[in-house]
Amino acid sequence: MSRTRRQIPSEINLAQNLAGRLKQLREYRNMTELDLSRATRLSRQRIEDLEAGVETWLSASDRQVLSRALNIEPAVLLESELRPDSGAHPVYAEQERFVLGELGESILAGSRDLVCPACGSGLRCSIQKGFDIQGRPSCLPKAFCQKCPFILK
Ligand SMILES: [Zn+2]
Repeated sequence: MSRTRRQIPSEINLAQNLAGRLKQLREYRNMTELDLSRATRLSRQRIEDLEAGVETWLSASDRQVLSRALNIEPAVLLESELRPDSGAHPVYAEQERFVLGELGESILAGSRDLVCPACGSGLRCSIQKGFDIQGRPSCLPKAFCQKCPFILK
């Protein structure tokens, strides 16, 4: 990424929750809800819901577009998110399986320039050659994040 990010000054006390933090960052960037909606292609209603605390966490792709539009590291949003326990939340578990499945397929297809679905940093990817249960050769996608504990195994 060549574009440099304007740092959020440390004297700004960022809100602890996602709703407060999004509003703060948006206002700091002098953006209206409509500006942010246009920059992210999320609906204006969605932005309002997020800032009202209707949603407390973001999908990896929504976090990406929002952090890009706000010119911040995705981790700034991630650390304010409140995520329901994945085991107790079938929709999230389903989404996670989908994200991990896509990631694995990209690695097997030869992509190496992939980002961590949890924090947006660069992933170290590799393919592990092995054998499946029937003894046939198989390839397993592996990845780990260089910044956060995310690991695909
Ligand atoms: Zn990460």
